Amino acid sequence: MNPELYPLGLRIAGRLVVVLGGGPVAARRTRSLVLAGAHVRVVAPEICEDLAALVAPLPDGAARPDGSGAAGTVAWEARSYRSGDLEGAWLVHTATGSPEVDADVAAEAEALRVFCVSAGDASGTAWVPAVARVTVADDTTSATSAPSTEVVVAVNAGRDPRRAQRVRDAIDALLATGELPLRPVRPGAGGSGSVALVGGGPGDPGLVTARGRRLLAQAEVVVTDRLGPRALLDELADDVVVIDVGKTPGFHPVPQEEINALLVEHALAGRRVVRLKGGDPYVFGRGGEELIACEEHGIPVEVVPGVTSAVSVPAAVGIPVTHRGWSRGFTVLTGHEDIGKVPAASDHTVVLLMGVSRLRDSAAALMASGRSPETPVAVVEDGYGPRQRSTVGTLATIADVASAAGVRAPAVTVIGDVVRVSPAWRAAGLG
Ligand code: SAH
Repeated sequence: MNPELYPLGLRIAGRLVVVLGGGPVAARRTRSLVLAGAHVRVVAPEICEDLAALVAPLPDGAARPDGSGAAGTVAWEARSYRSGDLEGAWLVHTATGSPEVDADVAAEAEALRVFCVSAGDASGTAWVPAVARVTVADDTTSATSAPSTEVVVAVNAGRDPRRAQRVRDAIDALLATGELPLRPVRPGAGGSGSVALVGGGPGDPGLVTARGRRLLAQAEVVVTDRLGPRALLDELADDVVVIDVGKTPGFHPVPQEEINALLVEHALAGRRVVRLKGGDPYVFGRGGEELIACEEHGIPVEVVPGVTSAVSVPAAVGIPVTHRGWSRGFTVLTGHEDIGKVPAASDHTVVLLMGVSRLRDSAAALMASGRSPETPVAVVEDGYGPRQRSTVGTLATIADVASAAGVRAPAVTVIGDVVRVSPAWRAAGLG
C-alpha cells in the first residue's frame, strides 16, 4: 500500500531546478517552472522545439502570469546526465526516456535529500498534480493584483495523470462559470473596489454568460433588478450584500441617480460590486449612465454583455427576429417614440420593449405610418419565466386581444411576418 501523498505548494521563484531530458515532458515541466519564476537548468543531449523556445532569452519585461515580477530563466547544457548535476538544486525533474538514467537521477536526488519528480515514476519522490488556476478579478486589476488573489487547485489521482486531468478539467469548468465560491474572504485579499455591469439575460439562469456568473461568484455587493436571472441570487453566500433596486412599470423605487450613487459608494469603499441587469446592459438598460458615473470616480468598470430580451424572448416562443424570406431586419424600440419612423414593410420586424400599456397607441401609430392592419403581432409575456405566454393577433386586433387576455408586463411585442413562423400563430388559425 502506498503511504498517503502529502500535497504542498512550492515557492520556487529564484531557485535552481534541474530538469533532465529534452522531450515534450521536460518541456512542459520547464514551462511551468519558468512561469513560477524558477531558474531551470536543462541537461539533455538534444532538446525538442518547445524546450528550445524556452531556452531562447525571454523578451524584456516578460512577466509571470500573476504580474508579480521577473520571469524565471532556462539554461541548457547539451550533454547527458552525469553524477553531480543535481548540486545546488531545490528540486529535480527527470524525464530522460531511459528508466535506468531516471533511476540514477532519483538515487542522486535521494542522497542529496532533494525531491525528485521522475517520469520513471517508481523511483520518484514527488508528483506533479494537474492544475486549475484562476486569478480573481484578473482584468480589472491585472497589473497590480497581488498573487494572493489567485486560486490554485492541484489534483493528484493516484498514478493516473489522465484521470487527474479529467477531474481538473471539470473543476476548471466550474471555476470559469463562477459556480465555485471564488470570492475573497480575507479582508484585503481581493484588491480594490470595482464594478461589473453584468447582463443577466432574460431570466433563465442558464442564459447568463460564463463571465457574468464568475463575476457574480466573486461579488461582495450585488445590485439587482426585477428582471434578469434572480434565481442566481439564491446561490450567493450569506454575507453578500444584495440590494434590490427593481423597477416595476409606473413605480420607480430607486431613481437612476441613486443607483449610480450606490455603485460608486460601494466600489469606493473597496468592494467588488456586480450590477446585475436584465438582458443586455446597453439595450434600454441605462448601463451607459452607470458606466459614466463609475468612470467619473475612477472606478474600474467591466461591462459584460447579456442576451437581450429583444431577441431571446421572441425566440422562447419560436419567433426568429430575422428569417430568410420573411424578415430582412429588425428594429428595437420602447414603444414610446419614433414608432412611425421604422420601415413600414411587414418583412421588417419591429420589436417593442416596455410597451404593454401603450399597445393600442403603438399599433395605431404603425398603421398610420403605412403598415398593413393585417400585419401579424405577438405579445410575449414573461419569457423563460413561469408565466410565459404568447398572445397573437394583427395590428388591427392585438390591443383588444391582449386586453381580453389580461396581458401584463414584462412583455416583448413582435410585429411582422416572422410571427407567422411561431406555433402560437398556427394554433390561432389566423392564416
Ligand atoms: N436590458 C433589457 C431590457 C430592459 S427594458 C434587455 O436587454 O432585455 C425592460 C423590458 O424588457 C421589459 O419591459 C420587457 O419589455 C423586456 N423584458 C425583459 N425581460 C423580459 C422577459 N423575461 N419577458 C418578457 N419581456 C422581458
